[in-house]
Amino acid sequence: MFPLKQRKIGGYKFAQRTWYSSRHLGVDYVASKGTPLYAPFDGEILKRFYGFEGGNTIWFKPNGQNVIIRFLHLSSFNASGKVKSGQVIGYTGNSGSLTKGAHLHLDISKGAVNIWNFANFLDPDKFDWKDIAPVPASNNAPSVPPASSKIEQWALAIKKHEGFIAPCAQYPKGSRAYRNNNPGNLRYTSYSASLGLIKGKDDKNFVIYQTYDIGFNALKKFLTDAANGKLISYKPDMTLYQFYSKYAPSTDGNYPKGYAESVAWVMGVSPNTKIKDLL
Ligand SMILES: [Zn+2]
Repeated sequence: MFPLKQRKIGGYKFAQRTWYSSRHLGVDYVASKGTPLYAPFDGEILKRFYGFEGGNTIWFKPNGQNVIIRFLHLSSFNASGKVKSGQVIGYTGNSGSLTKGAHLHLDISKGAVNIWNFANFLDPDKFDWKDIAPVPASNNAPSVPPASSKIEQWALAIKKHEGFIAPCAQYPKGSRAYRNNNPGNLRYTSYSASLGLIKGKDDKNFVIYQTYDIGFNALKKFLTDAANGKLISYKPDMTLYQFYSKYAPSTDGNYPKGYAESVAWVMGVSPNTKIKDLL
């Protein structure tokens, strides 16, 4: 499983130039101070220590995989030795000299860790975290057929990014998108409420659709309308980058660039793709 509840790039990506090196060895993920860090697999904490640059650091080795996953800048540790997948092994933070704000730096070495050999690192965003597809409750089973159109692929990529997660240890009631049958986490407006049968809105003003299928269709209709130029805020010539600066604006604490890139990557298109070309 991915070691954080929320999987959102919030800093340097893999191989990107940073203020302190020519190529970033891993990926920086959004994580406010004190966010639980989960063991991604059954495995072993090989080391945990304070490093000048990385701050509180964990070296984790999954059972049966010849990789070492490093977690940096933690605020505290919560386990040592052998651990089970999903166990809280620490809490994220902002420790060490190579960080300017709370986040999780995660990198993956093939075999031994050698920070001077970039070729020995894997891209954590392409790594198989073996996330198990959420098992839906029977009453609103999101049976996801293979994507049949680009709009559907796009909606599925959004669903993945927003985190549509059925009840589990980490989310006893399921994620917000799951609870609301709203895989795109659409805000409540007269428009979004018109896209399908709704139950109402939640405490953060997100629509609650009556069933998953209604919510997923609402998301597809919204994307189709946006790409067709039927909505004021979106133009068919917008790129995915431009689309996400409206859909997930940074003024709401989002990271639209990362969102656009993650969706584009899932869909296998460039983030500079025009949204009209996704119809
Ligand atoms: Zn980093």
